[in-house]
Amino acid sequence: MIVRLLFFILVFAIGWVIYRQFAKTIMAKSKSVKKTKDTNHEEPMVKCATCGTFIPKSHAVYDHNQTPFCSVEHKLEHKSQ
Ligand SMILES: [Zn+2]
Repeated sequence: MIVRLLFFILVFAIGWVIYRQFAKTIMAKSKSVKKTKDTNHEEPMVKCATCGTFIPKSHAVYDHNQTPFCSVEHKLEHKSQ
């Protein structure tokens, strides 16, 4: 009976240590996910005036009216319309 009790305590202790390690890993992972989400939010998306595709602001091509385009081709296409 006492041996069984000791066995359960041991299993519980090992389980607790594993759980702590697991929780730490999950916390670290969720923190890094939040960080990547934040960096994504820092990059606003703009809509191409010709085809309507969303592109990151820094990747967009702008004309003299500050209208965003996904590519130089679409910028030229929009002007000819
Ligand atoms: Zn486009």
